Amino acid sequence: MSTAILDAEKIPAQKLEIKTLIPADPKAIYQFRAARLAELAEESGLPDYFRLLNLLVSVQARLATETNGTATQSCFGPKPEFDLNQSQPMAQGHFEWGNYWQSVLLELVSDLLPRLMPKNAPELTVVLKELASTEPEILQQYAQAMLLGHFADVPAKYTLFIWAALSVYWSHWATDVAMALAKTGEGHKTLCPVCGSHPVASVIKEQPRAGLRYLHCSLCETQWHQIRAECTSCGEDKGVFLWAETETKAAVRIESCDTCKGYTKMLFTDINSKLEVAVDDLATLLMDQYVVEQGYLATTVNPLLLAHEQ
Ligand SMILES: [Zn+2]
Ligand SMILES: [Zn+2]
Repeated sequence: MSTAILDAEKIPAQKLEIKTLIPADPKAIYQFRAARLAELAEESGLPDYFRLLNLLVSVQARLATETNGTATQSCFGPKPEFDLNQSQPMAQGHFEWGNYWQSVLLELVSDLLPRLMPKNAPELTVVLKELASTEPEILQQYAQAMLLGHFADVPAKYTLFIWAALSVYWSHWATDVAMALAKTGEGHKTLCPVCGSHPVASVIKEQPRAGLRYLHCSLCETQWHQIRAECTSCGEDKGVFLWAETETKAAVRIESCDTCKGYTKMLFTDINSKLEVAVDDLATLLMDQYVVEQGYLATTVNPLLLAHEQ
């Protein structure tokens, strides 16, 4: 009898099935990333660099693991206060992030030093020891500069390691913040709604519904939903093109935008579930080279590539 009546309550409920945010699970993310680095090392063309990254990300995974136990929480310090009513509560100017991230950095360096391959060891050992003995005020300036996107203000040899430590610190606290923000259902586009950082790339997912696109944060590892029809950088829906090395079913593509001249890598995990956002972006740099030659610029930041940007 009442089949024609729309159930008004069900309509918004269906909309909410698309999660606006996927909070980070740092331990799982770093473990998955480390495994993918190991898998692609030989074919990457940069085997020594991939092996170093594998060690670094494995240490990140170990540090992130400790957050779940009751054991030592000391390296993260007390939970900072976040104002969840403002946008990007974990943006660098929006909360007191202090210098506990430096404890993470020291842990990271002391874990990494004994694991270095003898081949890489001489220069890297020196770099890591320098970093560990850098004045806290200087380290704080480096972190501040990087969080503002001024990567060139920091010695290139340090950026990879500083960002790795910042990322472990940020992702540690980002999970709760992202869960709280997810309830508001607010939509965001260009930058991470939790911390205001650039994405690494777009990830096309099979779950919870095939074809959904999420952007993956380069700092706090949160993912946020973004509709497919628009440029991830400027929001324009015209002049957006997809590039791929093969015609059909390419698992890695590039989306370019003629309005802002930006481009973003797209990883189709519904086609290849092994893809890891930071590693597979790095492993497909030849594609970037091609679109850069066509006049487009990356609108993304890869945490595994910072050392190469200068
Ligand atoms: Zn973030
Ligand atoms: Zn654009």
